[in-house]
Amino acid sequence: MNAVAEYFRNIADAVTTTIAGMKITLRYWVKEPSITVEYPDRLGPGKTAADVVADRFRGFLRLDLDKCIGCMQCMRACPINCIRITVEKTAEIRMLTRFDVNQAKCMYCGLCVEECPSNALVFSKRFEGACFNMQELCVRHVTGPVPVAKLAAVSTK
Ligand code: SF4
Ligand code: SF4
Repeated sequence: MNAVAEYFRNIADAVTTTIAGMKITLRYWVKEPSITVEYPDRLGPGKTAADVVADRFRGFLRLDLDKCIGCMQCMRACPINCIRITVEKTAEIRMLTRFDVNQAKCMYCGLCVEECPSNALVFSKRFEGACFNMQELCVRHVTGPVPVAKLAAVSTK
């Protein structure tokens, strides 16, 4: 008798928990505003992925060359050596000749951004990095020698 009672109790449990789950599903389907966005098909007219991600989203790193003082603190802060910078001194000018960020390796921890004294390095909202060759994810921010910014001319934190 106990076994029969337990059998029917299990059926009743299955029905009530299924109804409870479906009530939540129906509430979100009919009443609640949608939280997720079907990407990339339903971003909305004229919208790009950057328009819908959160303001504090951590995408590919962006470098503002007008602010970079070539201090290399970001490179030293990176725990997994994603950043490679070369600065050369010619006469009285320091030139940035290389600033590579390996986005394939980056774990988006933000340590480099925190360390940058001039806010030259920030996270962008770009996250679309699908490609056939991993080398394409090594972003070269400098393609030729660029004079570094003067510390006094950029706002520091
Ligand atoms: S976010 Fe972290 S892992 Fe990526 S480059 Fe900066 S320090 Fe390195
Ligand atoms: S991005 Fe910032 S931390 Fe990195 S070299 Fe330039 S100024 Fe220094």
